Amino acid sequence: MWLWRSGEEGAGKVSEGGQQAFIGMGSNLGDRRSFLEKASQEIGNHPQVRVIRLSSLYETEPVGYLDQGWFLNQVMEIETTLKPEELLSFLQGIEDKLGRKRLIRWGPRVIDLDILLYGKLTIESPELIIPHPRMYERGFVMIPLQEIAPDLIHPDGKTSREHLEMLKKTEKMEKVRLFQG
Ligand code: ADP
Ligand code: MG
Repeated sequence: MWLWRSGEEGAGKVSEGGQQAFIGMGSNLGDRRSFLEKASQEIGNHPQVRVIRLSSLYETEPVGYLDQGWFLNQVMEIETTLKPEELLSFLQGIEDKLGRKRLIRWGPRVIDLDILLYGKLTIESPELIIPHPRMYERGFVMIPLQEIAPDLIHPDGKTSREHLEMLKKTEKMEKVRLFQG
């Protein structure tokens, strides 16, 4: 786990009215680690975004479309004054810039950036659903999230730890392991 120390670049950015949000990142094409690093940098470069914490990297077997390589996943905590819709289009701009082509849903991609949580907000519009609609079934989201924010209270009142325990009980979790790369 990695976090900003006070006095470093980023400290002091985004003060008033900043919302706590969590972003799920995944890559399974090319130099996966470098795509995640580039995405983190791009996110942190926004004047209205401050990166608070990054989880370790996790390696995950693909779900949905199985004929593809293992994913590298990571979760990031940010503080931001961007509105949820602005944050989504900012993240989609980074996906495009890093060369993501939207070919197959749940198919291979150089980078996938999802908004997992945005404060205590719940949103259900055609373009944006928060909490992310599939996060509670995904070990590759819940394991890194519980690493960096175990006691975080979700909009349904449960903590990350409780959600992960519930997911483990379903025994439907895909294989997720700490990346030793
Ligand atoms: P997935 O992330 O489920 O593998 P995609 O990244 O291809 O699939 O999904 C893209 C679409 O999902 C976007 O066009 C976006 O409008 C929609 N979407 C809905 N809710 C969210 C969210 N919380 N974060 C990111 N995208 C979302
Ligand atoms: Mg996505």
